[in-house]
Amino acid sequence: MEPGLEDVSNADVIVVGGGPAGCAAAIRCAQFGLKVILIESKPFPRTHPGETLHPGVEPLLKQLGVLESVLAAGFLRHQGNWVQWSAESEFVPFGEDDSGAWLGFQAWRADFDAILLNRVKAIGVKVIQPCRASRLVMDGCRVTGVETSLGTFWAAKIIDAAGDHHWLAQQLGLQIQYHSPRLIAYYGYVTGECPVRDHAPAIVADSYGWTWTAKVRCLRRATPTQLYQWTRLSFVEQKIAKDWLPNEFLGLKIYQAMRAANVTWRIVSQPAGYSYFLVGDAAMVLDPTSSHGVLKAIMSGIWVSHSIASELLGNLTEQQAIDHYCLWIHNWFRHDVKNLSSLIAKLPSPPFWI
Ligand SMILES: Cc1cc2nc3c(=O)[nH]c(=O)nc-3n(C[C@H](O)[C@H](O)[C@H](O)COP(=O)(O)OP(=O)(O)OC[C@H]3O[C@@H](n4cnc5c(N)ncnc54)[C@H](O)[C@@H]3O)c2cc1C
Repeated sequence: MEPGLEDVSNADVIVVGGGPAGCAAAIRCAQFGLKVILIESKPFPRTHPGETLHPGVEPLLKQLGVLESVLAAGFLRHQGNWVQWSAESEFVPFGEDDSGAWLGFQAWRADFDAILLNRVKAIGVKVIQPCRASRLVMDGCRVTGVETSLGTFWAAKIIDAAGDHHWLAQQLGLQIQYHSPRLIAYYGYVTGECPVRDHAPAIVADSYGWTWTAKVRCLRRATPTQLYQWTRLSFVEQKIAKDWLPNEFLGLKIYQAMRAANVTWRIVSQPAGYSYFLVGDAAMVLDPTSSHGVLKAIMSGIWVSHSIASELLGNLTEQQAIDHYCLWIHNWFRHDVKNLSSLIAKLPSPPFWI
């Protein structure tokens, strides 16, 4: 154990991963009075794709105590998205109520995730960072601790929020169920001026897949310049040139070279078990068509913290907490797969597997 960490080596809950899912779980567990350790492998701020947040995230941010900071961060807001799927391009607003139009966020993830992690620290969670979780410690069929680059930590509950490489599932040999062929999303960032994209993001379908474009930030240099993000998902194996850009971004300057992410639709068959829970991308992944990954990550983190608190207060048995969570995650995934499938079926040339 690294000097200075001996006192915190025992907790009620260990959260592995400091993204939205892990921070939401850690904040809510701490709000329930639990002793929590959060282990994050990367120093912050760190970059991450996934800026576009649906307005539905606001009440969750309020519950986590970060809404004011998120609003004060000055992220770009938008009233809806341009959608060109099987028909002409149309603007699809999020909706409105008496106080006006609902607004989504373009939350630059390095800043957004740092706001969440600062709240985690402020609420009394011990954040150990940078520190990589390497192996689970088992006692029979129970997970009792986590070996890390800085020593071993012990807790009654382990939450895997380490993202889409399914860290805990790989360790326990849990089955991952695939619901699509292998899907790779390519994405990148450009700077310059693209006025057509300044007011709202757009998703445009073609015969092979779809392209998403959004303005995500205004870079405040001597002359303000805009930062745009694009994501390309093809449903057929398609070679993509390293310098490929969506038409509307041709001529803009590459800010971050193209990257690839495995967005194959998948779910861990058993997202909870004796003494563990999987939240966010660690539990399930869908392609980013609906831009709901962060919302789901936060909601699953909140759900799990309520389950753990209910179990420790004696309101739920461990088996009930596991069963309720597994059912909820599987129902949610099934519902999203159904919606995504019917959307893809409307493409000009839908893939054979739909
Ligand atoms: C191209 C693309 C575009 C997307 N666009 C959107 C979008 O517009 N809107 C949206 O809502 N979602 C979007 N998503 C999805 C979104 O990025 C994810 O769903 C979301 O980040 C999941 O949050 P998380 O907390 O589960 O995981 P992550 O955000 O991945 O956080 C996991 C954390 O765990 C840490 N970690 C990993 N391994 C370890 C370890 N062994 N030990 C300790 N720490 C570890 C990582 O450093 C990381 O900080 C997009 C995804 C892609 C690929």
